Amino acid sequence: REFEVEGIQETNINVVVRCRGRNEREVRESSAVVVSTDTVQGKVVNLSMGPSALGNKTYNFDRVFSPAADQGMIYDDVVKPILEEMLSGYNCTIFAYGQTGTGKTYTMSGDMDETFGMLSDAAGIIPRVLHSLFKKLDTEDTESFVKCSFIELYNEELRDLMAVEENTKLKIFDDASRKGHATTVVQGVEETHIRNAAEGIKLLQQGSLKRQVAATKCNDLSSRSHTVFTITACVKKAEGGEDWVSAGKLNLVDLAGSENIQRSGAENKRAAEAGLINKSLLTLGRVINALVDRNPHIPYRESKLTRLLQDSLGGRTKTCIIATISPAKSNLEETISTLDYAFRAK
Ligand code: ADP
Ligand code: MG
Repeated sequence: REFEVEGIQETNINVVVRCRGRNEREVRESSAVVVSTDTVQGKVVNLSMGPSALGNKTYNFDRVFSPAADQGMIYDDVVKPILEEMLSGYNCTIFAYGQTGTGKTYTMSGDMDETFGMLSDAAGIIPRVLHSLFKKLDTEDTESFVKCSFIELYNEELRDLMAVEENTKLKIFDDASRKGHATTVVQGVEETHIRNAAEGIKLLQQGSLKRQVAATKCNDLSSRSHTVFTITACVKKAEGGEDWVSAGKLNLVDLAGSENIQRSGAENKRAAEAGLINKSLLTLGRVINALVDRNPHIPYRESKLTRLLQDSLGGRTKTCIIATISPAKSNLEETISTLDYAFRAK
């Protein structure tokens, strides 16, 4: 699905599915495996709806990963091509979308520990991207620098996970100085220059820890908040005798649990919070649908998440959604809603 409008507008959204194995609890409760994937083409996911339902439900995606797929496979098949696009100047975004407990954080961050500069097999997308990026830049003859930021979005408020000060709230403004694709600036955000992968991974670990500490204070913050880790590469090249800088950006987004999209009935503050979280997740879905439908009005402004990512969604950008699901019958309803949401983005 790649198309151009008037030669400049180009939208490319890839949707893939990753199904984890049954966890301990699902095995203990003998919850049946109801998800199967085709192993030949790796593009189909099948749901067994039980004897009373009309057989199976089948979905087609750009790629479907079975529980046998490891972190390296996800990286090679999905992430590597996006890193190439980023280095050729595109703004790219990878989202992990799915029910809490299905592997969003495992897929995005995974095991962040390095041993003698080597990543663990369970390392997720962000540490792997940092490693490959510096490996590439280090072999090139060109001057370059890399910076990153790490933002948490909770309750329609932005918090800087890289700031030294606790609870640094951030504000988004429209950036009127840029011509062409409208964009936004985040005032006061910490953008840290990193000289190697280890420095980036350290920032990811520290920010993740901050998030965990806050999550233990505030019940299920981690299931209701989004995190956005952004890597920007600025490369200085000599072309036709003149130096120029091409900057590509990669946003790695660990979304709030998709169950928050439906959650309702909670009271007072909780209801308000749930509503606000729905706002970013729902608006993201609407923005993606509008882009896919080539709708002239894209509702970026309706949530903080879509405003934050405005310059990386639509226009000359690349997007990938990784929908994570559980194979167990006890989660079938959430799995269907995750796959429906993901399928609409195709
Ligand atoms: P989420 O972020 O979607 O709430 P997590 O990434 O925290 O879910 O995953 C929940 C648990 O399942 C974690 O203990 C994680 O290590 C494990 N897990 C998730 N996906 C996989 C996978 N593909 N392989 C192995 N373990 C996984
Ligand atoms: Mg998580």
